[in-house]
Amino acid sequence: MTKVFNEPTFRDGVNLMVDRAIAVMGLDEGVAKAIKSCNAVLQVQFPVKIRDKIEVFTGWRATHSTHRLPSKGGIRYAPYADQNEVEALAALMTYKCAIVDVPFGGSKGALLIDPSQYSRDELELITRRFTLELIRKGFLSPSTNVPAPDIGTGQREMAWMADTYKHLHPDDINYVACVTGKPIHHGGIQGRVEATGRGVQYAIQEFFRHADDVKEANLSGSLEGKTCVIQGFGNVGYHAAKFLSEEDGVKITAIIEYNGALINDDGIDIEQLRQHIDEHGGVETFTCAHFVEDGHAVLEKECDILIPAALESQITMENASQINAKLIVEAANGPITFGADEILAKKGVIIIPDAYANAGGVTVSYFEWIRNISHIRFGRMQRRHDEMRGAEMTRVIEEATGRHVSDQIRHSISRGADELDLVRSGLDDTMRLAYQEIRATRENNDNIKDLRTAVYVTAIEKISRSYLEVGVY
Ligand code: NAD
Repeated sequence: MTKVFNEPTFRDGVNLMVDRAIAVMGLDEGVAKAIKSCNAVLQVQFPVKIRDKIEVFTGWRATHSTHRLPSKGGIRYAPYADQNEVEALAALMTYKCAIVDVPFGGSKGALLIDPSQYSRDELELITRRFTLELIRKGFLSPSTNVPAPDIGTGQREMAWMADTYKHLHPDDINYVACVTGKPIHHGGIQGRVEATGRGVQYAIQEFFRHADDVKEANLSGSLEGKTCVIQGFGNVGYHAAKFLSEEDGVKITAIIEYNGALINDDGIDIEQLRQHIDEHGGVETFTCAHFVEDGHAVLEKECDILIPAALESQITMENASQINAKLIVEAANGPITFGADEILAKKGVIIIPDAYANAGGVTVSYFEWIRNISHIRFGRMQRRHDEMRGAEMTRVIEEATGRHVSDQIRHSISRGADELDLVRSGLDDTMRLAYQEIRATRENNDNIKDLRTAVYVTAIEKISRSYLEVGVY
């Protein structure tokens, strides 16, 4: 990880950004304090016998807020995790849920582990043991605290967690809703794996629908042909790169990974790169782009859009002034430090902040949770009905006009929406509305200069309303 010199910790950085928002909205000091404080943090240490030796693992789960339940947030497996980071990420989840109107509190968890050092069976053992700790201490259940995937975890880990919960609570009819991001055949939802990257795409599309915002970033026109550098080619970075390049004509000119970066000013073929990594395990030997070892320096490459999608604290006071992007979209959580944020603002770089930009994941997790507690797949009741109405409509058109409707039009009119269509539509709508709300907040308050402050003001207004309506007890 990049060393951060003389800068606040991640958690303090988030709080400083929140303080900036609280100052412009003149919020009551007590309410502000209640919103900012982290409700509970659990640290667990547990032994697991690995290769005939006992190893002790450390994990955390922080619940930042419980004004809405369950509290929601990912669990990461990383060799650098710590409590400060978990608390910062849990706080971000509170603001993120409020921004996209997901009725959940904020939470986050981490296990201090390098997953690459363990076999699949060992990881299953460790995950099940960690899950047991979280359940026993009241930090995992469908109604109070619901984890999801994050760095180093995915569908597999979520399936192990759900199964562990089921064995401990066989009488809980909603057991499958205790985690989200599960495999489809274990209660997952179509479109969850791609959701955060898809949400990043929808956020950028919405930004480009507002000509004034595009102009403020010293850009013009549509997304077509814009150059883009992406840091991190994991779940979020890969999907964002794929959708932006394949569907919006964005040119991905660099992909930065932990051990170096690939550069191709004509645009990197994302699927070709994905296949190469699957076959060869890394980016170094990919021949359709130029490989450079100092990947971190590539963050400074000139581009229209920079998407950090790897880790926190990647753009710091050390490199912020060298950044050559017009628009930065925070797909990762906390990739820009508080100090760097101020430097970039002075440079006129526009930042679409994490609490909004990467909210696609929690939005679709919310859809998955609803699907789980309602015990029915979206679209199951109405799909065929919609198809019948569509077929009837084409028949009426043909009768009224005396002309034959082509098979292509007939198909598009009569096709009923399946679950993936509905998830994408719900996510697109959520990302559009949230951006419009953030924009309106900024327009209505002359003291709000940047999108990040507008995001926090919008979120805090909603959270404080909920605190004041319910009362503090
Ligand atoms: P991931 O583990 O799938 O991918 C992370 C990628 O970053 C990996 O390819 C890894 O090799 C790369 N990486 C690690 N260190 C790096 C470095 N120093 N420089 C460049 N690349 C590096 O994780 P993810 O789920 O894609 O999460 C990425 C970010 O997005 C995190 O900040 C996470 O909190 C955030 N996020 C994820 C989700 C989600 O649904 N997965 C939702 C919201 C936010």
